[in-house]
Amino acid sequence: MCLNDTNRRDFLKTAAAAGIAVAGVQALATPAAAHAREHTARLGDKVALTDVRVFDGDQVTAPRTVVVDNGRIGISALGARRIDCAGAVLLPGLIDSHIHLRDVNTLHQLAGSGVTTGLDMACFPPSVVNSLRRLSGLPDIRSAGTPAVAPGSPQSQLPTFPADAVLTGPDQASRFVRARIAEGSDYIKIIVDEPGLSPETVKAVTTAAHSSGRLVMAHATTTAMAERALDADVDMIHHVPLDSALPAEVAARYVATGTVAVPTLTMMEGFAGLGIPGMDYAAAEGSVAALRRAGARILVGTDANTAPGIPVQPPFGTSLHHELELLVRAGLTTREALRAATSLPAESFGLRDRGAIRPGYRADLLLVDGDPLADITATRAIRRVWVGGVEYSPAT
Ligand SMILES: [Zn+2]
Repeated sequence: MCLNDTNRRDFLKTAAAAGIAVAGVQALATPAAAHAREHTARLGDKVALTDVRVFDGDQVTAPRTVVVDNGRIGISALGARRIDCAGAVLLPGLIDSHIHLRDVNTLHQLAGSGVTTGLDMACFPPSVVNSLRRLSGLPDIRSAGTPAVAPGSPQSQLPTFPADAVLTGPDQASRFVRARIAEGSDYIKIIVDEPGLSPETVKAVTTAAHSSGRLVMAHATTTAMAERALDADVDMIHHVPLDSALPAEVAARYVATGTVAVPTLTMMEGFAGLGIPGMDYAAAEGSVAALRRAGARILVGTDANTAPGIPVQPPFGTSLHHELELLVRAGLTTREALRAATSLPAESFGLRDRGAIRPGYRADLLLVDGDPLADITATRAIRRVWVGGVEYSPAT
Protein backbone atom coordinates (compact mmCIF):
# COMPACT_ATOMS: atom_id res chain seq x y z
CA MET A 1 0.00 0.00 0.00
CA CYS A 2 1.29 3.41 -0.93
CA LEU A 3 0.58 6.11 1.62
CA ASN A 4 0.62 9.81 0.92
CA ASP A 5 1.47 12.13 3.82
CA THR A 6 -2.07 12.58 5.05
CA ASN A 7 -2.90 8.92 4.76
CA ARG A 8 0.35 8.01 6.39
CA ARG A 9 -0.40 10.29 9.34
CA ASP A 10 -3.85 8.78 9.65
CA PHE A 11 -2.40 5.31 9.46
CA LEU A 12 0.15 6.06 12.15
CA LYS A 13 -2.48 7.65 14.36
CA THR A 14 -4.66 4.62 13.88
CA ALA A 15 -1.78 2.29 14.54
CA ALA A 16 -0.90 4.24 17.66
CA ALA A 17 -4.47 4.21 18.84
CA ALA A 18 -4.77 0.56 18.02
CA GLY A 19 -1.52 -0.36 19.67
CA ILE A 20 0.15 -3.46 18.57
CA ALA A 21 -2.59 -5.90 18.87
CA VAL A 22 -1.77 -7.22 15.43
CA ALA A 23 1.39 -9.06 16.37
CA GLY A 24 1.45 -12.68 15.50
CA VAL A 25 -0.42 -12.25 12.28
CA GLN A 26 2.45 -13.61 10.29
CA ALA A 27 4.03 -15.51 13.10
CA LEU A 28 6.40 -18.08 11.74
CA ALA A 29 5.88 -21.74 12.39
CA THR A 30 9.43 -22.22 13.61
CA PRO A 31 10.04 -25.69 15.01
CA ALA A 32 10.34 -24.43 18.56
CA ALA A 33 11.33 -27.74 20.10
CA ALA A 34 14.32 -28.04 17.80
CA HIS A 35 15.55 -24.60 18.82
CA ALA A 36 15.06 -25.39 22.46
CA ARG A 37 17.41 -28.34 22.12
CA GLU A 38 20.18 -26.13 20.79
CA HIS A 39 21.26 -25.28 24.28
CA THR A 40 21.80 -27.90 26.87
CA ALA A 41 19.05 -28.26 29.42
CA ARG A 42 20.54 -29.38 32.70
CA LEU A 43 17.50 -29.31 34.84
CA GLY A 44 18.78 -31.79 37.40
CA ASP A 45 21.84 -29.69 38.20
CA LYS A 46 22.43 -28.54 41.73
CA VAL A 47 24.45 -25.36 41.79
CA ALA A 48 25.53 -23.14 44.68
CA LEU A 49 26.11 -19.52 43.78
CA THR A 50 28.53 -18.28 46.42
CA ASP A 51 29.58 -14.77 47.41
CA VAL A 52 26.50 -13.34 45.78
CA ARG A 53 24.57 -10.25 46.90
CA VAL A 54 20.82 -10.63 46.49
CA PHE A 55 18.14 -8.07 45.62
CA ASP A 56 15.52 -9.18 48.11
CA GLY A 57 12.77 -6.83 46.89
CA ASP A 58 13.91 -4.15 49.27
CA GLN A 59 17.69 -4.05 49.61
CA VAL A 60 20.79 -5.61 48.15
CA THR A 61 21.96 -8.00 50.87
CA ALA A 62 25.43 -8.82 52.14
CA PRO A 63 27.16 -11.67 50.24
CA ARG A 64 25.53 -15.07 50.73
CA THR A 65 24.98 -18.40 48.97
CA VAL A 66 21.97 -19.15 46.75
CA VAL A 67 21.27 -22.75 45.76
CA VAL A 68 19.66 -23.79 42.47
CA ASP A 69 18.28 -27.29 42.84
CA ASN A 70 16.37 -29.09 40.10
CA GLY A 71 14.86 -25.95 38.63
CA ARG A 72 13.96 -24.29 41.92
CA ILE A 73 15.70 -22.24 44.59
CA GLY A 74 17.01 -24.80 47.06
CA ILE A 75 18.01 -24.73 50.69
CA SER A 76 21.13 -26.82 51.20
CA ALA A 77 24.36 -26.42 49.25
CA LEU A 78 25.37 -29.98 50.11
CA GLY A 79 26.71 -31.74 47.02
CA ALA A 80 26.22 -28.70 44.81
CA ARG A 81 28.61 -27.52 42.13
CA ARG A 82 29.93 -24.16 43.31
CA ILE A 83 30.06 -21.02 41.24
CA ASP A 84 31.95 -18.10 42.80
CA CYS A 85 30.02 -14.92 41.96
CA ALA A 86 32.68 -12.60 43.45
CA GLY A 87 30.19 -10.17 44.98
CA ALA A 88 28.00 -9.73 41.90
CA VAL A 89 24.30 -8.97 42.40
CA LEU A 90 21.59 -11.59 41.84
CA LEU A 91 18.10 -10.46 40.78
CA PRO A 92 14.93 -12.48 40.29
CA GLY A 93 14.44 -13.13 36.57
CA LEU A 94 12.75 -10.16 34.94
CA ILE A 95 9.09 -10.17 33.85
CA ASP A 96 7.94 -8.19 30.80
CA SER A 97 4.21 -7.51 31.24
CA HIS A 98 3.60 -6.49 27.63
CA ILE A 99 5.14 -8.28 24.67
CA HIS A 100 3.87 -9.77 21.43
CA LEU A 101 5.11 -13.30 20.85
CA ARG A 102 6.21 -14.26 17.39
CA ASP A 103 8.45 -17.31 17.37
CA VAL A 104 11.08 -19.10 19.39
CA ASN A 105 13.61 -16.38 18.62
CA THR A 106 11.44 -14.10 20.74
CA LEU A 107 12.15 -16.36 23.69
CA HIS A 108 15.89 -16.53 23.01
CA GLN A 109 16.10 -12.74 22.85
CA LEU A 110 14.20 -12.39 26.12
CA ALA A 111 16.39 -14.96 27.88
CA GLY A 112 19.60 -13.32 26.70
CA SER A 113 18.53 -10.13 28.47
CA GLY A 114 17.48 -11.83 31.69
CA VAL A 115 13.74 -11.74 30.93
CA THR A 116 12.51 -15.10 32.18
CA THR A 117 8.75 -14.54 31.95
CA GLY A 118 7.05 -12.98 28.92
CA LEU A 119 3.43 -11.87 29.16
CA ASP A 120 1.97 -11.62 25.68
CA MET A 121 -0.77 -9.07 25.03
CA ALA A 122 -2.00 -10.29 21.63
CA CYS A 123 -0.81 -13.08 19.42
CA PHE A 124 -2.68 -15.30 17.02
CA PRO A 125 -3.26 -17.90 15.79
CA PRO A 126 -3.26 -19.85 19.08
CA SER A 127 -1.01 -22.54 17.58
CA VAL A 128 1.88 -20.05 17.72
CA VAL A 129 1.38 -19.40 21.42
CA ASN A 130 0.97 -23.07 22.20
CA SER A 131 4.19 -23.98 20.36
CA LEU A 132 6.08 -21.63 22.69
CA ARG A 133 4.74 -22.91 26.00
CA ARG A 134 6.78 -24.94 28.47
CA LEU A 135 10.04 -25.08 26.52
CA SER A 136 12.73 -26.18 28.95
CA GLY A 137 15.42 -23.56 29.50
CA LEU A 138 13.47 -20.81 27.75
CA PRO A 139 11.24 -18.10 29.24
CA ASP A 140 7.83 -19.04 30.57
CA ILE A 141 4.97 -17.33 28.77
CA ARG A 142 1.34 -16.40 29.21
CA SER A 143 -0.84 -14.97 26.47
CA ALA A 144 -4.01 -13.01 25.81
CA GLY A 145 -4.41 -14.71 22.44
CA THR A 146 -6.74 -12.71 20.22
CA PRO A 147 -8.07 -9.37 21.57
CA ALA A 148 -11.64 -8.11 21.34
CA VAL A 149 -11.91 -5.34 18.75
CA ALA A 150 -14.59 -3.26 17.06
CA PRO A 151 -15.74 -3.50 13.44
CA GLY A 152 -13.68 -1.11 11.32
CA SER A 153 -10.70 -1.25 13.67
CA PRO A 154 -7.27 -1.71 12.07
CA GLN A 155 -7.03 -5.22 13.50
CA SER A 156 -10.36 -6.26 12.05
CA GLN A 157 -9.10 -5.30 8.57
CA LEU A 158 -6.37 -7.91 8.68
CA PRO A 159 -7.29 -10.86 6.47
CA THR A 160 -6.23 -13.35 9.14
CA PHE A 161 -7.98 -11.70 12.06
CA PRO A 162 -10.52 -14.11 13.63
CA ALA A 163 -14.04 -12.91 12.84
CA ASP A 164 -15.38 -13.99 16.23
CA ALA A 165 -13.15 -11.40 17.95
CA VAL A 166 -14.83 -8.50 16.12
CA LEU A 167 -17.70 -7.62 18.42
CA THR A 168 -20.73 -5.58 17.42
CA GLY A 169 -22.46 -5.56 20.79
CA PRO A 170 -22.49 -6.78 24.40
CA ASP A 171 -24.50 -9.88 23.49
CA GLN A 172 -21.38 -11.33 21.85
CA ALA A 173 -19.17 -10.94 24.92
CA SER A 174 -19.75 -14.36 26.48
CA ARG A 175 -19.14 -16.20 23.23
CA PHE A 176 -15.92 -14.24 22.67
CA VAL A 177 -14.61 -15.05 26.14
CA ARG A 178 -15.55 -18.74 25.85
CA ALA A 179 -13.75 -18.98 22.51
CA ARG A 180 -10.57 -17.43 23.92
CA ILE A 181 -10.57 -19.70 26.94
CA ALA A 182 -11.09 -22.73 24.68
CA GLU A 183 -8.05 -21.63 22.69
CA GLY A 184 -5.94 -21.35 25.84
CA SER A 185 -5.86 -17.59 26.47
CA ASP A 186 -4.55 -17.00 29.99
CA TYR A 187 -6.28 -13.62 30.30
CA ILE A 188 -8.57 -11.51 28.13
CA LYS A 189 -7.49 -8.42 26.19
CA ILE A 190 -9.84 -5.67 25.02
CA ILE A 191 -8.91 -2.86 22.65
CA VAL A 192 -10.65 0.17 24.19
CA ASP A 193 -10.55 2.71 21.44
CA GLU A 194 -12.49 5.54 19.80
CA PRO A 195 -14.61 4.86 17.86
CA GLY A 196 -14.53 1.32 19.05
CA LEU A 197 -16.32 -1.09 21.29
CA SER A 198 -19.18 0.57 23.15
CA PRO A 199 -18.86 1.06 26.90
CA GLU A 200 -21.55 -1.62 27.29
CA THR A 201 -19.53 -4.11 25.23
CA VAL A 202 -16.30 -3.40 27.13
CA LYS A 203 -18.19 -3.93 30.36
CA ALA A 204 -19.86 -7.13 29.13
CA VAL A 205 -16.55 -8.67 28.04
CA THR A 206 -15.00 -7.76 31.39
CA THR A 207 -17.89 -9.26 33.31
CA ALA A 208 -17.82 -12.47 31.23
CA ALA A 209 -14.06 -12.81 31.72
CA HIS A 210 -14.32 -12.25 35.44
CA SER A 211 -17.06 -14.83 35.80
CA SER A 212 -14.68 -17.28 34.15
CA GLY A 213 -11.89 -16.31 36.55
CA ARG A 214 -9.81 -14.47 33.96
CA LEU A 215 -8.02 -11.17 34.37
CA VAL A 216 -8.89 -8.42 31.90
CA MET A 217 -6.31 -6.30 30.08
CA ALA A 218 -7.43 -3.07 28.42
CA HIS A 219 -5.54 -1.22 25.74
CA ALA A 220 -6.17 2.53 26.19
CA THR A 221 -4.13 5.42 24.83
CA THR A 222 -6.23 8.43 25.82
CA THR A 223 -7.61 9.64 29.12
CA ALA A 224 -11.18 9.14 27.87
CA MET A 225 -10.47 5.52 26.97
CA ALA A 226 -8.66 4.90 30.27
CA GLU A 227 -11.83 6.15 31.98
CA ARG A 228 -13.97 3.83 29.85
CA ALA A 229 -11.73 0.94 30.93
CA LEU A 230 -11.94 2.03 34.57
CA ASP A 231 -15.75 2.25 34.27
CA ALA A 232 -15.77 -1.37 33.08
CA ASP A 233 -13.66 -2.49 36.07
CA VAL A 234 -10.82 -4.03 34.05
CA ASP A 235 -7.79 -5.31 35.95
CA MET A 236 -4.99 -3.61 34.03
CA ILE A 237 -4.71 -0.69 31.65
CA HIS A 238 -1.88 -0.87 29.12
CA HIS A 239 -0.22 2.27 27.67
CA VAL A 240 -0.61 5.86 28.87
CA PRO A 241 -1.95 8.90 26.99
CA LEU A 242 0.30 10.73 24.54
CA ASP A 243 -2.02 13.71 24.07
CA SER A 244 -2.07 15.01 27.64
CA ALA A 245 -1.03 13.61 31.01
CA LEU A 246 -3.60 11.67 33.03
CA PRO A 247 -5.33 14.10 35.42
CA ALA A 248 -4.79 13.43 39.13
CA GLU A 249 -8.45 12.47 39.60
CA VAL A 250 -8.21 9.78 36.92
CA ALA A 251 -4.94 8.46 38.37
CA ALA A 252 -6.74 8.30 41.72
CA ARG A 253 -9.40 6.06 40.13
CA TYR A 254 -6.70 3.48 39.30
CA VAL A 255 -5.95 3.31 43.01
CA ALA A 256 -9.59 3.30 44.15
CA THR A 257 -10.43 0.42 41.79
CA GLY A 258 -7.15 -1.48 42.24
CA THR A 259 -6.44 -1.17 38.52
CA VAL A 260 -2.82 -1.80 37.56
CA ALA A 261 -0.99 0.41 35.03
CA VAL A 262 1.40 -0.92 32.39
CA PRO A 263 2.57 2.35 30.80
CA THR A 264 4.84 0.88 28.05
CA LEU A 265 6.91 4.09 28.02
CA THR A 266 9.30 2.54 25.50
CA MET A 267 6.46 2.28 22.99
CA MET A 268 5.07 5.71 23.81
CA GLU A 269 8.54 7.22 23.37
CA GLY A 270 8.78 5.51 19.99
CA PHE A 271 5.45 6.89 18.78
CA ALA A 272 6.17 10.37 20.15
CA GLY A 273 9.42 10.26 18.17
CA LEU A 274 7.57 9.88 14.86
CA GLY A 275 6.74 13.59 14.83
CA ILE A 276 2.98 13.16 14.68
CA PRO A 277 1.14 16.26 15.94
CA GLY A 278 -0.60 15.66 19.24
CA MET A 279 1.79 12.94 20.36
CA ASP A 280 4.07 14.23 23.07
CA TYR A 281 6.26 11.99 25.21
CA ALA A 282 6.00 14.50 28.06
CA ALA A 283 2.32 13.50 28.37
CA ALA A 284 3.30 9.85 28.80
CA GLU A 285 5.96 10.69 31.37
CA GLY A 286 3.54 13.03 33.17
CA SER A 287 0.96 10.22 33.26
CA VAL A 288 3.42 7.89 34.97
CA ALA A 289 4.30 10.62 37.45
CA ALA A 290 0.58 11.17 38.16
CA LEU A 291 -0.02 7.43 38.63
CA ARG A 292 2.94 7.16 40.98
CA ARG A 293 1.88 10.21 42.99
CA ALA A 294 -1.60 8.70 43.35
CA GLY A 295 -0.08 5.41 44.55
CA ALA A 296 -1.13 3.24 41.60
CA ARG A 297 0.65 -0.03 40.91
CA ILE A 298 2.90 0.30 37.86
CA LEU A 299 4.41 -2.64 35.97
CA VAL A 300 7.22 -2.87 33.44
CA GLY A 301 5.99 -3.61 29.93
CA THR A 302 7.75 -2.82 26.67
CA ASP A 303 5.35 -3.70 23.83
CA ALA A 304 8.25 -5.52 22.17
CA ASN A 305 7.01 -6.75 18.79
CA THR A 306 7.94 -7.55 15.24
CA ALA A 307 4.48 -6.96 13.80
CA PRO A 308 4.41 -6.01 10.14
CA GLY A 309 3.14 -2.47 9.58
CA ILE A 310 3.77 -1.23 13.10
CA PRO A 311 6.20 1.71 12.90
CA VAL A 312 7.68 1.21 16.37
CA GLN A 313 9.16 -2.18 17.24
CA PRO A 314 10.95 -2.28 20.59
CA PRO A 315 13.43 -5.17 20.59
CA PHE A 316 12.71 -8.16 22.84
CA GLY A 317 14.71 -8.25 26.05
CA THR A 318 16.97 -5.23 25.78
CA SER A 319 13.94 -2.92 25.72
CA LEU A 320 13.03 -4.02 29.24
CA HIS A 321 16.24 -2.45 30.52
CA HIS A 322 15.33 0.71 28.62
CA GLU A 323 11.84 0.69 30.15
CA LEU A 324 13.37 0.47 33.64
CA GLU A 325 15.44 3.55 32.85
CA LEU A 326 12.45 5.45 31.46
CA LEU A 327 10.37 4.65 34.54
CA VAL A 328 13.15 5.90 36.81
CA ARG A 329 13.40 9.05 34.71
CA ALA A 330 9.62 9.47 35.09
CA GLY A 331 9.96 9.46 38.87
CA LEU A 332 10.02 5.85 40.12
CA THR A 333 12.80 4.96 42.52
CA THR A 334 15.20 2.25 41.37
CA ARG A 335 13.64 -0.06 43.96
CA GLU A 336 10.14 0.60 42.63
CA ALA A 337 11.31 0.00 39.06
CA LEU A 338 12.94 -3.32 39.96
CA ARG A 339 9.82 -4.44 41.82
CA ALA A 340 7.76 -3.44 38.77
CA ALA A 341 9.68 -6.07 36.77
CA THR A 342 9.76 -8.81 39.43
CA SER A 343 7.54 -9.19 42.50
CA LEU A 344 4.68 -6.90 41.42
CA PRO A 345 3.89 -8.53 38.05
CA ALA A 346 4.22 -11.96 39.67
CA GLU A 347 1.60 -10.93 42.22
CA SER A 348 -0.66 -9.09 39.77
CA PHE A 349 -0.75 -11.98 37.29
CA GLY A 350 -1.07 -14.63 40.00
CA LEU A 351 2.31 -16.21 39.22
CA ARG A 352 2.98 -17.33 42.75
CA ASP A 353 6.24 -19.19 42.11
CA ARG A 354 8.40 -16.29 40.92
CA GLY A 355 9.31 -12.64 41.27
CA ALA A 356 11.58 -13.22 44.27
CA ILE A 357 14.59 -15.35 45.21
CA ARG A 358 13.02 -17.62 47.78
CA PRO A 359 13.29 -21.36 48.51
CA GLY A 360 10.86 -23.33 46.36
CA TYR A 361 10.44 -20.58 43.78
CA ARG A 362 11.43 -21.08 40.15
CA ALA A 363 15.16 -20.57 39.73
CA ASP A 364 14.74 -17.65 37.33
CA LEU A 365 17.83 -15.60 38.01
CA LEU A 366 19.87 -12.76 36.59
CA LEU A 367 23.43 -12.11 37.79
CA VAL A 368 24.71 -8.58 37.14
CA ASP A 369 27.77 -6.50 37.88
CA GLY A 370 27.12 -3.37 39.92
CA ASP A 371 24.19 -2.42 42.11
CA PRO A 372 20.97 -1.57 40.22
CA LEU A 373 19.56 0.08 43.34
CA ALA A 374 22.35 2.63 43.06
CA ASP A 375 22.24 2.84 39.26
CA ILE A 376 19.41 1.23 37.33
CA THR A 377 21.59 0.77 34.23
CA ALA A 378 23.48 -1.94 36.13
CA THR A 379 20.76 -4.42 35.05
CA ARG A 380 22.36 -4.30 31.60
CA ALA A 381 25.72 -5.58 32.89
CA ILE A 382 24.60 -9.22 32.67
CA ARG A 383 27.02 -11.96 33.66
CA ARG A 384 24.77 -15.01 33.68
CA VAL A 385 21.10 -15.94 33.39
CA TRP A 386 19.19 -18.99 34.63
CA VAL A 387 15.75 -19.82 33.30
CA GLY A 388 13.86 -22.35 35.41
CA GLY A 389 17.17 -23.54 36.82
CA VAL A 390 18.84 -23.96 33.43
CA GLU A 391 21.68 -21.61 32.68
CA TYR A 392 20.93 -19.82 29.44
CA SER A 393 23.63 -19.86 26.85
CA PRO A 394 22.72 -18.48 23.44
CA ALA A 395 22.85 -20.97 20.58
CA THR A 396 25.98 -20.42 18.54
ZN1 LIG B 1 1.00 -4.21 22.49
